[in-house]
Amino acid sequence: MAAVSIHPSVDNGVKPGAKDFAGGTLVCKCTSNPVEVTIKSQSAHNHACGCSKCWKPKGALFSVVAVVGRDKVSVTKGAEKLAVVDGAATIQRHACRGCGVHMYGRVENTRHPFYGLDFIHTELSPQAGWSAPEFAAFVSSIIEAGADPANMGAVRARLKALGLEPYDCLSPPLMDFIATHLARASGVLKG
Ligand SMILES: [Zn+2]
Ligand SMILES: [Zn+2]
Repeated sequence: MAAVSIHPSVDNGVKPGAKDFAGGTLVCKCTSNPVEVTIKSQSAHNHACGCSKCWKPKGALFSVVAVVGRDKVSVTKGAEKLAVVDGAATIQRHACRGCGVHMYGRVENTRHPFYGLDFIHTELSPQAGWSAPEFAAFVSSIIEAGADPANMGAVRARLKALGLEPYDCLSPPLMDFIATHLARASGVLKG
């Protein structure tokens, strides 16, 4: 039996990021006039995501998605080809109308814990050195996208073997970050 395929960028092992990497470009999959987004920083919190909203390459069970500060993100080519996938979603994913690739996802709600962060797929970059995926989020959600529930044990085992600890929400540090933000906003937590 073939090993479970998670995502082409990690199936042969997770590649470590480069220490002094300071960003690069993301390019969509259009063969003519591709959209280009320039990122002026290293990525953070890179992870495999099993939710049904993140863009993933054809046949992949998971997307691989990271964050960067929104002030580090600019569309440098083909802005006219971009459209928001779902205007009602927390993360406004700007996709290329030509090839369907999501170029960046932005949180516009200023009260949201993730406001100020953009979500990007570093596999779209010709440069190497982006921060490596660290964990797997929303693992159970792949069932909602059609994955076989009977295969989940094998999927989680494969993620663990790759060093991507599987969680059915976000990782504990990110869940704590969200809860802390909410506790401060409600006044339960001072300071
Ligand atoms: Zn495109
Ligand atoms: Zn996702």
